[in-house]
Amino acid sequence: MRKKVREDALRAVAAALLATLAFEVLYLGLLNEWLGQFWFFRFHLPVIVPLFGAISVIAVNFYEYHGFGSQDGIIRHGVFKPYVALTFDDGPNPEFTSRILDILAQKNVRATFFMVGRHVLKYPLIARSVVAEGHEIGNHTFSHRDLMTASRKTLLKEVHDADDAISSTLGIRTRLFRPPRGMISAAGRRVLAESGYKIALWTVSAQDWRRDASKVVVRRIVRHARPGGLILFHDSGALLRSEGGSRESTVEALPLVIDELRSRGYEFVGLSQLIADVEHAGEQSLLEAPAHSGAGQEA
Ligand SMILES: [Zn+2]
Repeated sequence: MRKKVREDALRAVAAALLATLAFEVLYLGLLNEWLGQFWFFRFHLPVIVPLFGAISVIAVNFYEYHGFGSQDGIIRHGVFKPYVALTFDDGPNPEFTSRILDILAQKNVRATFFMVGRHVLKYPLIARSVVAEGHEIGNHTFSHRDLMTASRKTLLKEVHDADDAISSTLGIRTRLFRPPRGMISAAGRRVLAESGYKIALWTVSAQDWRRDASKVVVRRIVRHARPGGLILFHDSGALLRSEGGSRESTVEALPLVIDELRSRGYEFVGLSQLIADVEHAGEQSLLEAPAHSGAGQEA
């Protein structure tokens, strides 16, 4: 049912985008003079351009949180258990990662850090302290470039270079991967799955790049958190670049988020455990599947 709704939404968005594009191309290229005599078409651009923008933003948002179609191989949430996984993207960062580590240590919480390979090489001591404190590491590409437009060769280079930076600096190999901005093509997803990567996105984003007050961030996360949730923070990054932004609100919000979620009965787990539980549940349902289909055939 949910899958059907997603496919319908995909078709609706794709049709709207195509229709808008076709209209613009026709208008600007061929019918400008003729359509110009009708009042409606004279001010269509100021209306249609923002509409086009709004549809794109909604489509990207929908893609990031739900995906289109089944998107096998992407994990957005865990099974329905009273726990959540905290994840931090874009680090390590000399200013904020250590402060976040201190909070996590004080609250006795294990988290997962999706690191940018270039930042691992730049700040090796901070990267090592993340591992030393018992947190998990994920690959977030080498340079945080957009993967939707990357060729297969570029995508693999981004992933492998980050892998090399992580293994040479930290002495570990990770199979956890998160694409920048959560965007990856179906082909990219297949390439990574073949290489054994688990692609993890998120259930709730702190949206801590928006420079909201920390209490706004806390409210956003607590309101949307649910059992098996995957929560996204940033310990580095900026709106357009991979580092340089302020993560003050993340640092301020984090202890409050942990306390509030704990008071609501949530525990905190590493991403590996969350994924292992998802895969175990998947195997269970596969084992149960033949019995169901058998019953269906008899009926
Ligand atoms: Zn990122």
